[in-house]
Amino acid sequence: MTQPDFAHRVLAWYDRHGRTQLPWQQDPTPYRVWVSEIMLQQTQVATVIPYYTRFMQRFPDINALANAPQDAVLQHWQGLGYYSRARNLHRAAQTIRDQHHGVFPQTLAAVEALSGIGRSTAGAILSLACGQAHAILDGNVKRVLARYHAVAGYPGQSAVQRQLWQYAEQHVPPSRNAAYTQAMMDMGATLCTRRKPACLLCPLQADCTAAKQGNPQDYPAPKPKKVLPEKQRFALVLRNPHGEIGLEKRPPSGIWGGLWSFPEYADEQAALHALHTDFADSPAKQPPMLKHLAPLSHTFSHYRLHLQPILVDLHMSDTRIMAADRWLWYNTTQAFSGGLSSAAQRLLKNLKEIT
Ligand code: SF4
Repeated sequence: MTQPDFAHRVLAWYDRHGRTQLPWQQDPTPYRVWVSEIMLQQTQVATVIPYYTRFMQRFPDINALANAPQDAVLQHWQGLGYYSRARNLHRAAQTIRDQHHGVFPQTLAAVEALSGIGRSTAGAILSLACGQAHAILDGNVKRVLARYHAVAGYPGQSAVQRQLWQYAEQHVPPSRNAAYTQAMMDMGATLCTRRKPACLLCPLQADCTAAKQGNPQDYPAPKPKKVLPEKQRFALVLRNPHGEIGLEKRPPSGIWGGLWSFPEYADEQAALHALHTDFADSPAKQPPMLKHLAPLSHTFSHYRLHLQPILVDLHMSDTRIMAADRWLWYNTTQAFSGGLSSAAQRLLKNLKEIT
């Protein structure tokens, strides 16, 4: 039996089973689609929806986002993780405001030039919001194509990636591109899932190479394992006589960039030195009380962090360096109005439990 072409079958499946009620599918402007695409990177649809709704209420358009303080943007991202996505979104909104008169650009090259937008995301925005015929290659689409064509190798390798892009472009239909793009994402998310692909329900089953071989789970090949380096750090958790906790704003880029956290040091000696030179009361007074709290671990993509928090009860609130803009005393009985690093969130929660 000859099969109708790939896109034709995908579109026919979409017309019967595709998702049409997602919040960003209603009034799909480039801005609304862009925010959804960024949130959906590394995050499931069900998790994204409440964040997306709150984000759109607070930042309904590009200018509202561009003009907001970074703290407000990070606060609305808190819980989604990968905060560089939020910082890039904010930066790109400012670029659109300043260089494109507040109007989302309409060419692939101009969209790709914005912070945090790669080739696949640019293609998805212009396809879903503007109906332009572009290929996409997000995680879901990579999985479908790697299985359908039995593409061996890890898609992070450039030769494998190149091959997958070729297939993605080859299948793009000349019309109904927005529906096709959404269909490919939906098929990857709901049918061609990582562990249990529902091949019997899939419109591509008749000529899918991996399904015929009986080994869809072997594609795409997993990332080659590497042993993550470990880092030990020490954090000072400063508490003043009012019970408020000292928080420091981290530098804008890097790990937990722009978020509020505790001052961190490479070793205990450096932490204690900083305590005495920067924070502690005058030497004439009693030395501050120190207590080692339960250590925390956090895995980043390129290393594993082990953090030893040291709780310090200061005798006074005024310290030498905390007058600077990047410090504050936080009253832990109130909601925090900025973005907190995940270490700070966990430490503050632990502190509440032990005090
Ligand atoms: Fe994925 Fe199975 Fe469909 Fe092939 S037939 S694309 S493995 S769901």
